[in-house]
Amino acid sequence: MQIKIGERTLGIETAKEADIVYVSHAHSDHLIRTKKHVLASKETIGLMRLGLKRDITPCTETLEGVELHNAGHILGSTQLRFTNGHTTVHTGDMKLRDGFTTRGAKPLECDTLYIDATFGDPAFSFPSKEIITELICQWTAEKTKQGMVIFGAYKTGKAQELIALLNEGTGIEPVVDDSIEERCKVYEKHGVKLERIPMSRDDSYEAALSNGVVILPFHKINAIMAREASELYGVNVDCALVTGWSMKYRYPVPAFPLSDHGGFDEIVEYVETAKPKKIVCKYGDASRLIDELRRRGFNAKSDAKPESILSFLRV
Ligand SMILES: [Zn+2]
Repeated sequence: MQIKIGERTLGIETAKEADIVYVSHAHSDHLIRTKKHVLASKETIGLMRLGLKRDITPCTETLEGVELHNAGHILGSTQLRFTNGHTTVHTGDMKLRDGFTTRGAKPLECDTLYIDATFGDPAFSFPSKEIITELICQWTAEKTKQGMVIFGAYKTGKAQELIALLNEGTGIEPVVDDSIEERCKVYEKHGVKLERIPMSRDDSYEAALSNGVVILPFHKINAIMAREASELYGVNVDCALVTGWSMKYRYPVPAFPLSDHGGFDEIVEYVETAKPKKIVCKYGDASRLIDELRRRGFNAKSDAKPESILSFLRV
C-alpha cells in the first residue's frame, strides 16, 4: 500500500517504489530493511536499531495529512491516519485494552480502515489484566515452591509485558536473557520501569535460584532445555509460554494467553467506533470476522494471502 504526498510516495510497510517507508512497530514481521527515510516513532527507531550493522535514517519532517497515533501493541507502536479529503487509517498491530507497559489504542474515525485482524476469530477474546495476572502469578507461586520456572516469551514486547506483570503481581524480579535485556533498556530509556536481572550479571545464577523465575525468548523453550536447566540449577524446573495463540491451540507446556493484539471483540469494537465505509482485514485468516462485520452492515474484505495459513507465527 502506498500514499501520494505531493511529489513523493509513502510506502505503508513496503519499500517498493516508495520515497519514505512507514514502519508501524519493531516486530520482525513488520520491519523493512531499507536505506530510504523511515517514518516511525522514536521508540520504534530505537528498537529497530538493535543489532543493525548500518543505521536507519528517520524521517523527522511533518508530512502533510499524515498523523501517527498510539496503537497499544508494544513500545512505540503506531497507527497511521492519512487525510486528503478522504480519511484512511492503517492500524498496524493494535490492541484497545491497556497492557502492563502500554496504554490501549483509541479507535480513529475514518472512511477506509486497514485493521489488524490477526485474531479475527471469536475463539480469541483475551482476559482482562486482572485475570491474566492472577492466572500467571498463581501458577508461578505454586511452581516456585517446588523449584524454578522458565517462561518463553517473544523478546520484543511480550517479555517486557511479562516482567511488568510479575513485578506488579508478585514483586519478583525475573532473570532475563541478554536479547530481552537489550530491549528492556530501550523501554527504560522511554520511561518504562522494569525490575529484572540480566543473565550476563555475575549474580544471575544465584538470583535465578532465589527469585525462582527466568524469562527466555519463546523459541528456546523445549524439553531438552528444561532438562538441562534442571541439571544446571539442581532443582525442579517447570516451563511455560505466554502467547495469545494459546486461546485456540495447545502447546507441549502450559501456555498463558498474554497477548499484545486486540481479540475478536476489540476488533469489532474498533470498527463500530470508527464507522468506516470500507474495511480491509489484514494479517490473518479473517473469514469469521468478515462474516460478523458484514452482518453488522459493514463493507469488509480481507487482503489475506495464501501464506496467512502460517499466521500463528505472527507476534
Ligand atoms: Zn507485532
